[in-house]
Amino acid sequence: MAHPSPRISARIAAIPESATLAVDAKAKSLKAAGRPVIGFGAGEPDFPTPDYIVEAAQRACADPKMQKYTPSAGLPELRAAIAAKTERDSGLMVAPSQVLVTNGGKHAVFQAFATLLDPGDEVLLPTPYWTSYPESIALAGGIPVLVHTDETSGYLTSVEQLEQHWTERTKVLLFVSPSNPTGAVYPPELVTQIGQWAAARGIWVITDEIYEHLVYGDARFVSMPAVVPEISDRCVVLNGVAKTYAMTGWRVGWMAGPADIIKAAINLQSHSTSNVCNVAQAAALAAVSGDLSAVAVMRAAFDRRRQIMTAMLNEVPGVVCPLPEGAFYCYPSVKGVLGKQIAGQRPATSSQLAELLLEEADVAVVPGEAFGTDGYFRLSCALGDADLEEGVSRLAKLLSTAH
Ligand code: PMP
Repeated sequence: MAHPSPRISARIAAIPESATLAVDAKAKSLKAAGRPVIGFGAGEPDFPTPDYIVEAAQRACADPKMQKYTPSAGLPELRAAIAAKTERDSGLMVAPSQVLVTNGGKHAVFQAFATLLDPGDEVLLPTPYWTSYPESIALAGGIPVLVHTDETSGYLTSVEQLEQHWTERTKVLLFVSPSNPTGAVYPPELVTQIGQWAAARGIWVITDEIYEHLVYGDARFVSMPAVVPEISDRCVVLNGVAKTYAMTGWRVGWMAGPADIIKAAINLQSHSTSNVCNVAQAAALAAVSGDLSAVAVMRAAFDRRRQIMTAMLNEVPGVVCPLPEGAFYCYPSVKGVLGKQIAGQRPATSSQLAELLLEEADVAVVPGEAFGTDGYFRLSCALGDADLEEGVSRLAKLLSTAH
């Protein structure tokens, strides 16, 4: 008998479950079972989608032409509105034909790597990285080359560090600012330096701008191809409505970039998912062509919460948390408590410590291993102030017993 082939392809079998979604699911199921769990796992705003966006979707449902297939690349009016919004928000000029509407930002990430990478191509990927980047790179046959950053640099990489990891096989730099999971925002000068370096090296940049409107204090978001025009022919911008308009469940994102890359990605999408749900596209159209007042309200809440959370975390012995300047996450180092005795155990990794925290204090956080860095936790600020303070107090109480 012929040797049986494995039931699951090697490519797919290599993909682990998304750790962030797993933590969220575990917290929700414990909560449903009656445990007073406070979950810091979710990567989504705790606000509802604004009414005018929901109403646009309701109208679209009743429109017979929205009940049929539309162009794979997206509704023409939405592609045009995204091009206009991009110029309004970052100063980057793109034609509607350079925009592809995708099933969320995650799908844009996947398609950008699929379109750019050949097997063996290397991608410079700063850590801590968002969980889905290395999986998308690997699925496209690429090799993630990790560029480690930590709390001592505010989780920012540098041209020197990138240069050290560059090889003849480097094709792409993945750049994200503001960052998930660290909340780090690259200062405009550093975005410029890194963009100029990438342009001089002749490599591509995939820049994920999904948190562009969530920056605080003196931090300022700039779009790399807007400040370094010479990179724009080798740069793909990723974005979406999920974070800015509290629309995580609607699943609308986009890629914007050079015409040949977008055309190739449209070909890919035309054979996989075709057009994004038209009703969701109509909602996204209302979102991107409207003003930014809804995100201003959310930004004020996240700003307050990131400050409260960071201050409370930094009071715990052994915990170090830079103040996040963007997005809605805190990324404290918990290296100072690992290996110590807590609740009769000696957790040696942040995964073990996160499990202990859930068991002993009913607090769910995502361990740093999910982002390529053991020794850290990611906590989302996207939950009500009372729960946030109660949850961090419980965490502080448990970790303060470490000895
Ligand atoms: N990029 C980053 C950095 C993110 O944090 C997320 C959401 N967690 C996404 C892309 C994807 O967002 P979505 O697929 O919900 O649009």
